Amino acid sequence: MTVSSFHPPQRTLMGPGPSDVNPRILEAMSRPTIGHLDPVFVSMMDQTKSMLQDAFLTKNELTMPVSAPGSAGMETCFVNLVEPGDTVIVCQNGVFGGRMKENVERCGATPIMIQDEWGSPVDPAKLEDALKAHPEASTVAFVHAETSTGAISDAETLVKLAHDHDCLAIVDAVTSLGGSPLKVDEWSIDAIYSGTQKCLSCTPGISPVSFSEAAIERIKNRKTAVQSWFMDLNLVMAYWGAGAQRAYHHTAPINALYAFHESLVILHEEGIENAWARHDRNHQAFKAGIEAMGLGFFVDEAYRLPQLNAVTLPEGIDEAAVRSALLNKYNLEIGGGLGPMAGKIWRIGLMGHASNETNVLMCLGALDAVLTDMGAKIDSGKAVGAAMKAFG
Ligand SMILES: *Cc1c(COP(=O)(O)O)cnc(C)c1O
Repeated sequence: MTVSSFHPPQRTLMGPGPSDVNPRILEAMSRPTIGHLDPVFVSMMDQTKSMLQDAFLTKNELTMPVSAPGSAGMETCFVNLVEPGDTVIVCQNGVFGGRMKENVERCGATPIMIQDEWGSPVDPAKLEDALKAHPEASTVAFVHAETSTGAISDAETLVKLAHDHDCLAIVDAVTSLGGSPLKVDEWSIDAIYSGTQKCLSCTPGISPVSFSEAAIERIKNRKTAVQSWFMDLNLVMAYWGAGAQRAYHHTAPINALYAFHESLVILHEEGIENAWARHDRNHQAFKAGIEAMGLGFFVDEAYRLPQLNAVTLPEGIDEAAVRSALLNKYNLEIGGGLGPMAGKIWRIGLMGHASNETNVLMCLGALDAVLTDMGAKIDSGKAVGAAMKAFG
């Protein structure tokens, strides 16, 4: 085998993640590696923590990045808050709720599943019924922004219901952080995890998490040890916690944390509310273009994520061939459906740095060209103009 350095092509990433990485972040990542206990590094950690608290809109002391992707953030929440024999109500309306169920089972606990149609939000009335039927439940878990379908759920209401029934709430905010309004303290979320590669436009591999006082109280009073050594927050806190001695737990992914830090600086410069507004504005223009083409959305307008557009397919078109043509001809990546939605929708991300006017117009133009070329029944040549009009 002949080997050589790897030079990836320059793509535009408009799938369900990773999203386009801001060049500032890639540059930050290439800075010199220093020791993870170096005082200079530790002061960068403190800044990271403080900016992450701002991004989550929380004062939670235990707010930090887990050194692994979003799935590890998910697992960190479950293995720390759930003990064998517990009952956990999991609200499922897509792929990621299913993963929560698996986490609960692997913790030796019993999941009570509430199912909603894919593409719909979690129904608070169903959660309330389940809470009444299961007074033994200690935890409620749900996905704020379901990346598999493009639907957002009313996190504030769901968390309130959980608390009314003495449960703690675990929230998946992998796709919502930085893209949709998310207020950890105002909504009293107990445990939340996110990812870096969606609306923060950072490289993948880090999972920001945050835990309330009530969650920490539960973790400290566990009857059993957390079965994962790596994710046991009692141990991790010695490195990231308040007044921690920064004792060695694991070697932090130094350069990945430079990248994460830079992504938070960028978010700080823009302002979280401006970031939400930008995601919304670009989604509205994209929507105008998609509709002008004669295509539609899988999710009702009221519950649509601006950062993840689930677009329905024109009749008789091989959706995978369209994605290949976009990738090969325009270096543009969009996503297909996940799980039961495979072959039924495209998932077009407008996340973080990738949520901009250029991408909206380019994606609509490229999609229009490829579909027209394949003889799809669409209104050709209208999408870009409609989006331009929407931008004003
Ligand atoms: C992407 C995603 C995850 C998993 O994150 P990874 O970084 O791929 O492990 C979990 N939940 C949701 C809602 C996601 O979109």
